[in-house]
Amino acid sequence: MEQDHTESVNKDLFSFLDNSPNAFWAVKNMCSILDQAGLARLSEGAKWNLEAGRGYYVTRNDSAVIAFRIPKADYTGFQIMASHCDSPMFKIKANAEIAVDSQYVKLNVEKYGGMICAPWLDRPLSVAGRVIVRTEDGIETRLINIDRDLCIIPNMAIHMNREVNDGYKFNAQADMLPLFCEKGDETDAFMKLIASEAGVPAEDILDTDLFLYNRMKASVFGLNNEFIASGRLDDLQCAFASLQGFIQASPVDSVAVHCVFDNEEVGSGSKQGAAGTFLKDTLHRISAAMGKTDEEYMMGLASSFLVSADNAHAVHPNHAEKSDPTNRAYLNKGIVIKYSANQKYTTDAVSGAVMRSICERAGVPYQTFTNRSDMIGGSTLGNISQSQVSLNTVDIGLPQLAMHSPYETAGANDTAYLIRAAKVLFSSSIEAAGDGSYKLRFS
Ligand code: ZN
Repeated sequence: MEQDHTESVNKDLFSFLDNSPNAFWAVKNMCSILDQAGLARLSEGAKWNLEAGRGYYVTRNDSAVIAFRIPKADYTGFQIMASHCDSPMFKIKANAEIAVDSQYVKLNVEKYGGMICAPWLDRPLSVAGRVIVRTEDGIETRLINIDRDLCIIPNMAIHMNREVNDGYKFNAQADMLPLFCEKGDETDAFMKLIASEAGVPAEDILDTDLFLYNRMKASVFGLNNEFIASGRLDDLQCAFASLQGFIQASPVDSVAVHCVFDNEEVGSGSKQGAAGTFLKDTLHRISAAMGKTDEEYMMGLASSFLVSADNAHAVHPNHAEKSDPTNRAYLNKGIVIKYSANQKYTTDAVSGAVMRSICERAGVPYQTFTNRSDMIGGSTLGNISQSQVSLNTVDIGLPQLAMHSPYETAGANDTAYLIRAAKVLFSSSIEAAGDGSYKLRFS
């Protein structure tokens, strides 16, 4: 039963991962799941008429989404899980074609985020993203995904690069441009391909946001199928688990809020990132639409909770010494609660205790993570979102290896654990007394 459940969760996860080559597609796929679950779509540019007992969602830039469900009775606050749907990848520049010796055409790309470069080489890649096309009265967006093996970034032969196994420094402009086609008589072959994929003449394309992605599909491996591997596990694994828990939950005393930001990998500083106003604006509009005063909105924030869910580093099998001596996370050992004294992770004793209570209530294992005291870790979106909406926040994630590789490894059981914890979070509420004590209500 448990095994079947894990298998069916991973089947759905893999379908989501394989069909979400970048943030635009991830948001589109989350929106379809929300449609199927009966949530109503809102637009930021239209008036919101909200009803108790119903669920809604809204997108920003087509690359970030917030879904929420309002309880039937009056609510105290917001129970939020925030994750991100962007991953490090290569963005295709304008005027992308570069001819080599009048024989080859390669594509001009630049880095988006901090990726591990080496595994991008010598594997089939393709292109996906959005195309903005001219219409009679303005512009419209078309998502495209060229669903076939389209290009490869070839390594140099070892005979031409004897140091490649001794810590080679990859130059993004020199080393990372993918081979696209043989140079023929045709000009603008790349944009013509994109235009035909978008179903428009090339001259109607005004601009694009296009990215390379790894064609290798998600897989299960290990003696007992105990591991999974895929591109973009950071952080689509958390975004997927948050969404599933959100749909399964029964919000009673708090508004359940599933929030997925874009641009975490480049510092979150966009309108659709965690440093933007998307979450604050949405919470504020929910309050206003439900007839709450500004003071009641702030009272609500004091009795709210934010789980910032972004994947965490598991102990590496070949480099176990890189992990902290006593706070070591392992694949399949459950949700990772992340701590950092300098507040790069927002977890403190209060939010850590709330998260532990949620995991215990959900009956799922959890573990703790800190960086080694002599290592600087990565950052995430929890502390960044505090500058817009300040509330009790915990930083968590699912344990994984090879973070920011185009093919990452994680545990086969952990996604289901986070779904269960998210379901408890979204069904619960928290009431702050203001003296360090909190009432946790699990429905
Ligand atoms: Zn992440």
